[in-house]
Amino acid sequence: MASATSPHSRVVIIGAGFGGLSAAKHLARAPFDVTVVDRHNYHLFQPLLYQVATAGLSPGDIASPIRGILRRQKNAQVILAKVSGVDTARKEVIAEGRRIPFDYLIVATGAEHAYFGHDWSSYAPGLKTIDDATYLRRRILLAFERAETEPDADEQRRLLNFVVVGGGPTGVEMAGAIAELAKRALASDFRSIDPRCARIILIEAGPRLLAPFAPSLSEAARRSLQQLGVEVRLGTVVTDCDCTRVWLGQERIETRTIVWAAGVKASPAAEWLDVGCDRAGRVQVQADLSVPGHPNIFVIGDAAAARGPDGKSLPGIAPVAKQQGRYVATLLIQRGKGKTLPAFRYRDFGIMATIGRKHAVAQVGACRLSGVTAWLLWSLAHVYFLIGSRNRVAVAMNWCWNYLTFQRGTRLITGISGSRIEDVLPALMLAPPTAADVGYSLSDRLPTERGIAR
Ligand SMILES: Cc1cc2nc3c(=O)[nH]c(=O)nc-3n(C[C@H](O)[C@H](O)[C@H](O)COP(=O)(O)OP(=O)(O)OC[C@H]3O[C@@H](n4cnc5c(N)ncnc54)[C@H](O)[C@@H]3O)c2cc1C
Repeated sequence: MASATSPHSRVVIIGAGFGGLSAAKHLARAPFDVTVVDRHNYHLFQPLLYQVATAGLSPGDIASPIRGILRRQKNAQVILAKVSGVDTARKEVIAEGRRIPFDYLIVATGAEHAYFGHDWSSYAPGLKTIDDATYLRRRILLAFERAETEPDADEQRRLLNFVVVGGGPTGVEMAGAIAELAKRALASDFRSIDPRCARIILIEAGPRLLAPFAPSLSEAARRSLQQLGVEVRLGTVVTDCDCTRVWLGQERIETRTIVWAAGVKASPAAEWLDVGCDRAGRVQVQADLSVPGHPNIFVIGDAAAARGPDGKSLPGIAPVAKQQGRYVATLLIQRGKGKTLPAFRYRDFGIMATIGRKHAVAQVGACRLSGVTAWLLWSLAHVYFLIGSRNRVAVAMNWCWNYLTFQRGTRLITGISGSRIEDVLPALMLAPPTAADVGYSLSDRLPTERGIAR
């Protein structure tokens, strides 16, 4: 643990996501005092969040306590606090009234939802945190519950329409998972409604799904989704939405559930550091990922706009963040020895997205895979990259169970205890989540991204 008498330089890492944790772990045996600050006490494996939102996995299966991950790393301490600024002149991080001094700072605070200037967050929640996922799970499951007892046919139809906005990997995975939930897992659980009649509509503004993938894989993903019963609308822009409908220009889709998977913007790191950023708010870093004018401050992962050798921005994906975290840690170790390191270079091992229980697309170099082979590769890779053996076993077992039984074991509607169900159902469907809704025990100290802060 860092102490006032320690001769070691102090490295403060803001964010224990993929980038921050990778940096912290690679500094394990280095002569630094490492402080990791995060507003949550857990590291989250975001690629499987959609499975929590659609009742396939429990939150605990895809999150691990940061303290637990770093417990054997003697030179690291963890602080649970929300950072609100950086005093670059005094070299201090400002977090909930506390000032944390640093010699080196690594900012790895990721990204948040972006609504392109619209105030749609309460109608079209996105998926970024555990709270987002359990909130979406509640909304999706409550839509079926309400439809079961709804006397009005129009409202019943509205409740069984699910709109997912954004045809990137998250939108594709969400739409596929909602379709499987409705058409398989819930198929025979209701008496007044047939969940298989639910409409799942995936809206993408661009000409194809999964834009970063090869066109043949985009087409394979579209076909797989259609086989699952998802209506895919390409080249279609959402022009407005509220709690009962989505507008696509003149056309209107009645719905009670909209999932936003269309855009992200970086966390406010650029504001904290008072430096330049791109249109998505990402800090424009130098070739060694340091911030211009601040050689001891680095920004990595989704919060950084780093460029590849071709001049294009690197994608906001986990491998980029992890490699950048490892790079900055190595650079600091080398600097300590009076050496330098060449510029950061991203090694691309490929991209993958899954569509339902046995379809996926994978692009690894020149190799393009789709269908069951890609799905097996996707499953193995995701289990392998999860943090913690417990989570790996839990996820693998859950998937086997879900695969064999078509069931979803975590169809729990949480956050409504203490009230009569009839009282809370309408409110939960219409209103954004509140502190009580989220049921977050630290809510008085650490506001979640949505709801409480508002
Ligand atoms: C739903 C979803 C699915 C995805 N699927 C894939 C996928 O299949 N494959 C893939 O490669 N990538 C995927 N990604 C992208 C990938 O998760 C990100 O690129 C990656 O997490 C970025 O890592 P990071 O370290 O920059 O940020 P994150 O992993 O987001 O970590 C940021 C950390 O900073 C903390 N933090 C933020 N603000 C503050 C603050 N003010 N104070 C203190 N702490 C703060 C957060 O709590 C968090 O722990 C997905 C993302 C999402 C949301």
